[in-house]
Amino acid sequence: MFAEKMVELGNRRSTIREIFEFGNKRAAEVGRENIFDFSLGNPNVPAPKTVGDAIVRMVREEDAAALHGYTSAQGDAAVRARIAESINRAHGTHFTGDNLYMTVGAAASLCVCFKALAEEGDEFIAFAPYFPEYRVFAEGAGARFLAVPADAESFQINFAALEERLTPRTRAVIVNSPNNPSGAVYSEETILRLTKLLKEKSQEYGRPIYLISDEPYREIAFDSVKVPYLTKYYDNTFVCYSYSKSLSLPGERIGYVVVPDEMEGAKEAYAAVCGAGRVLGYVCAPALFQRVASECAGQTSDLAVYQRNRDLLYNALIEMGYSCVKPEGAFYLFPRSLEPDAVSFCERAKGLDLLLVPGDDFDCPGHVRIAYCVKTEMIERSLPAFRKLAEMYR
Ligand code: PLP
Repeated sequence: MFAEKMVELGNRRSTIREIFEFGNKRAAEVGRENIFDFSLGNPNVPAPKTVGDAIVRMVREEDAAALHGYTSAQGDAAVRARIAESINRAHGTHFTGDNLYMTVGAAASLCVCFKALAEEGDEFIAFAPYFPEYRVFAEGAGARFLAVPADAESFQINFAALEERLTPRTRAVIVNSPNNPSGAVYSEETILRLTKLLKEKSQEYGRPIYLISDEPYREIAFDSVKVPYLTKYYDNTFVCYSYSKSLSLPGERIGYVVVPDEMEGAKEAYAAVCGAGRVLGYVCAPALFQRVASECAGQTSDLAVYQRNRDLLYNALIEMGYSCVKPEGAFYLFPRSLEPDAVSFCERAKGLDLLLVPGDDFDCPGHVRIAYCVKTEMIERSLPAFRKLAEMYR
């Protein structure tokens, strides 16, 4: 009676959500302070005060009909121009508002790009561990989704496995750096190697392989590590950005796609993004938050909290005997599970009210994700539980 695939997707609950719901249930039983919930990537650092100030000022002073009215389908022209300037200041690029399409967050940015690109038989490739919705979005756009197994020693790119998967059907490769869930930042060396390979393969196949850079964590990078801006390395790059993490606004659903002029068929590519926005019903991102994003472009929440949390948790886990690639960005730790089956490991952790997500969800078994975008004080209180868990495996 209904689209079978949609019913299946709607019924198949995400493990992350299930763990989060379990945490809420336990909190009601034993008190929130006794639950160590590391399941969700929901930033606990508040949005900067300038966000609230901008909202209050606009709501008080501006014409309500205009403020809350429809904007152009691709976003308000002045908003896009201002955001383009902010990107240019940060990265030395030369975008104008005409290179931007405003969206309801990175999820929509990705869906719009996938839909803009996918024709029958096309394939999209991502690198494990990856955000599980990539597969859903890619298949939803009618493409085939392929995963490159992880390089678990560094969480950079497993190039041998990538080469095996590149074919004339490859339409785009998705990168996410800083990465959810590994926290890895792709080095400039990795990016140079990737873009060289994609240029060679595009030439060999006689059609471009696009790069889709999913970057909701762009600003969350530690120890001054450089996060290369991919349009400067590869012309055929779509940038999918979101303010969900940088400004701690995940519930407000605001972000954008960048389509650079240098891209092959740039005009057509931008038209395809607009067309995809129409088909998906993503026209006119929330007007108030378009304005907020443009007024606060270039600002961030207090991201130093995440580095403090990473240092505290990483150092403590290593001292307890866990093994983990040190994350350079985002707000996740992705240690090895202490038994081969990460699902069973997470069940044991659950018994200590320690809520972790098995790496299987990110196509990287044998690991667990710990989202440390939580209060530092909760991390401190959780350490005895992490120690107890490690002791169970001695
Ligand atoms: N991509 C990655 C890697 C993410 O981790 C997330 C959210 O956690 C998204 C995309 C979706 O972001 P948004 O909330 O902006 O849609």
